[in-house]
Amino acid sequence: MSQQPNLEYTSLQKIEEIVKIQSSDNGVRDVPDYEKRSDDLKKLSRVISTYAKAICDALYADLGKNELESQIAEIGFVQGEIRHTLKHLKKWMKPKRVRTPWVLMPAKSFIVSEPQGKVLIISPWNYPFQLLFSPLVGALAAGNTVVLKPSELAPATASIITKMIKENFDPRQISVVNGAVDETSKLLEQKFDHIFYTGNGHVGKIVMRQAANHLTPVTLELGGKSPCVVAGKPDMKVTAKRIAWGKWFNAGQTCVAPDYILVEKGLKDEFLRELTSAVSDFYTQNPIESNDYGKIINQRHFDRLTGLFKKEDVIFGGQSDREKSFLAPTIISADFNHPIMQDEIFGPILPVIEVDTFDSALQVIARRDHPLAAYLFSGDDQMLKDFSLKVESGGICLNDCLMHLSNPDLPFGGKGPSGMSAYHGEKSFEIFSHQKSVLKRIFAFDLSLRYPPYSGKLGPLKWLMRWLG
Ligand code: NAD
Repeated sequence: MSQQPNLEYTSLQKIEEIVKIQSSDNGVRDVPDYEKRSDDLKKLSRVISTYAKAICDALYADLGKNELESQIAEIGFVQGEIRHTLKHLKKWMKPKRVRTPWVLMPAKSFIVSEPQGKVLIISPWNYPFQLLFSPLVGALAAGNTVVLKPSELAPATASIITKMIKENFDPRQISVVNGAVDETSKLLEQKFDHIFYTGNGHVGKIVMRQAANHLTPVTLELGGKSPCVVAGKPDMKVTAKRIAWGKWFNAGQTCVAPDYILVEKGLKDEFLRELTSAVSDFYTQNPIESNDYGKIINQRHFDRLTGLFKKEDVIFGGQSDREKSFLAPTIISADFNHPIMQDEIFGPILPVIEVDTFDSALQVIARRDHPLAAYLFSGDDQMLKDFSLKVESGGICLNDCLMHLSNPDLPFGGKGPSGMSAYHGEKSFEIFSHQKSVLKRIFAFDLSLRYPPYSGKLGPLKWLMRWLG
């Protein structure tokens, strides 16, 4: 059996069995009622609280995450999803009555949300707790059974998650499979009713191809280069602080972190002055010593990131230590042909590019793949309006970064290469449910016109349908 430090991989032979025991014995699915689902969510919340310290320790071991970042973006985020779901679940679960046309009367029509069934959730390493448990909340709320596949690249977090689930949940309801490509590939051979994948687009395509073998629907939460535009005289101090926070939170390893800056001509110097001052205030002049700044997940990613820029590109930062997997908050100057502008950076390097006008920034964004998020900082209302209407992306946040994710009433997901479908709040409940149509009729008024023999019935039937509208 293969092994990462702290993490025991699930044996390939066991994977089939883990998935199989989540099927009912007689094929008839047990649909949990509201009480059972809310009890499950309350239990999940209690278990998370009990393990909160261990989860923070694991996140520190894997990513050098400060406890405050772990509390707000991992544990607190999931607890917030649970609270929101508990508050609304009864309403979400209620069959929704819809209009019935006269031609079908007397009858009633409903849309019933039924569980998809057996769900697989695969998550990445950057928010290794939140990105596994936030979809889990939606999957449980919708009454599914769930197999969780944490990222092997955050082994300490995957281990504590495995322990939490094993000690507290019945494997017929929730199980964890650990491993890398072989184990995930084996999982993807199994038949699930929904697959929820978060990670890079290359593996997203593999997941979708495998899902096609069983015609299993997928949700793909992917990444991309999220642009951040500074134009139209924003409050530069606040702009710089918010961008610095959004970029260097989790050492830049956030799917919606501003990937590159497009700054309007005339604003660059002031922007850079405020940005470098904000970074120094946040992480001191010596960020390697800062407890508030994380590390790069592993040396492979460290090498990839340090290979993306040269010394002469650096405007600010650039210090690194391979042994410690440390790369300082780094600002570089670049143009669109620079290697850093080809793929998602997913690390603490921020290229800043000057553009002539706000409209040229819109054109740059339009020529590239649809990003997961797009940001504009501006004091000009027309620019803010145009940006939210014209920029095609998974989501948009105006005058801030990342914060749109924390509103559970805003669906979170990508568009095109940045993802497919969305979740959070009610959207999570919807994607993990099948919307089943139910028409209920009564036996009275059994119209004979519909039955064969049809001879002589078409004329009266047409008249009746016209009359009923
Ligand atoms: P990763 O390497 O941890 O991979 C994600 C999952 O896919 C893991 O569980 C891994 O075991 C599995 N996997 C890897 N290779 C596989 C293969 N060949 N076949 C089957 N499964 C495989 O994480 P990553 O992909 O490096 O994550 C970073 C990417 O995820 C970035 O592009 C980032 O933008 C994106 N991301 C998106 C979101 C979002 O919510 N949209 C959130 C976080 C990260």
